[in-house]
Amino acid sequence: MFEDLLRQWDGEHVVVRHDEATGAWMFVCIHSTRLGPAMGGTRLKTYDEPSHALEDGLRLAAGMTRKLAVLGLPCGGGKAVLAVPEIPEGDERRGLLERYGDLIESLGGTYVTGPDVNTREPDMDVIGSRTAHVFCRSVDNGGSGDPSVHTALGVFHGIRATLAHAFETDDPAGRTVLVQGTGSVGAKLARLLLDAGAIVLVSDVDEERARSTGADPVPPDTALVLECDVYAPCALGATLNADSIPRLRCKIVAGGANNQLATPEDGERLRAAGIVYAPDYVINGGGALHGIGLETLGWDADRLEREVAGIGDTLSGIYRQAEAAGITTSEAAERLAAERLKRA
Ligand code: NAD
Repeated sequence: MFEDLLRQWDGEHVVVRHDEATGAWMFVCIHSTRLGPAMGGTRLKTYDEPSHALEDGLRLAAGMTRKLAVLGLPCGGGKAVLAVPEIPEGDERRGLLERYGDLIESLGGTYVTGPDVNTREPDMDVIGSRTAHVFCRSVDNGGSGDPSVHTALGVFHGIRATLAHAFETDDPAGRTVLVQGTGSVGAKLARLLLDAGAIVLVSDVDEERARSTGADPVPPDTALVLECDVYAPCALGATLNADSIPRLRCKIVAGGANNQLATPEDGERLRAAGIVYAPDYVINGGGALHGIGLETLGWDADRLEREVAGIGDTLSGIYRQAEAAGITTSEAAERLAAERLKRA
């Protein structure tokens, strides 16, 4: 199974290690160093089989190459997956992350990591005790801290640009926005939208979390089919699929979640339904700008804010290109990434 996956992959290389002490598999997938060192977060997750974790890593690393190219950053794409029998805590977690930090260090800066599913700043601090090639350690440890504030801000700018494309104005005031998932990104996005005068509906499987945003909570099982101007997925991936798209009653899909389309054909399904889709890896790029900009490109806070606001301009360009070429917005984003990679 590993052989098939690796044979079909168009990336550069994969480093694999089995961690005897925890039974974890470590996969560091370096998809492209064409634009610079490969960057992308570390996912800590349980999988049915190690090959599923490798498959996830290969796909996500290729996505990072596209994402960082579209954002105009001098970085390549990579991703690491730590496939664990169960999510470790305490000393076991620390030990695993230290050994993983040693593995990153041995790659000499070809791959630089950061947080992803189930990993946060304290984990980056542990990895950072063994290697300098890590983003988003806590501020107390010399890192740039939680990136979600800039992910949410980028999504907010992206929503404005998408409103401008779909309606006459980019003003969120009076528009109804459904924020699905009120965790790190969704809660901050809901606040930005409320402050801008939008009517904000929120759904979360953790109802208390939804309520604490100050927006109007709606039941998570029926949220998707509510009438709204903007549906902002900020929880899980693959919520846009052959089953859900015909039931959507929004004009725009623009949110922070990764991998929102279940299949590439769902981009066309959205277009056919007259829904403007903000490609996920473009609109949720604020977190990457935060870590990479502050920690390797020497940006100050003002520069970072300007670059995050630029996500709106990038999306406007993608919408113009999609209209002119008669293609989906996801295809237009892919073409932009491919052009930037070709020019390098
Ligand atoms: P998080 O874990 O803090 O929040 C996710 C929230 O979604 C939780 O509150 C959870 O209870 C809720 N949720 C889960 N299933 C749900 C459902 N079916 N309906 C409604 N709510 C549900 O995660 P996050 O950091 O806010 O990230 C959210 C999404 O954005 C993820 O897809 C993540 O990969 C993506 N993303 C995050 C960042 C970042 O900076 N944190 C950057 C880029 C992309």
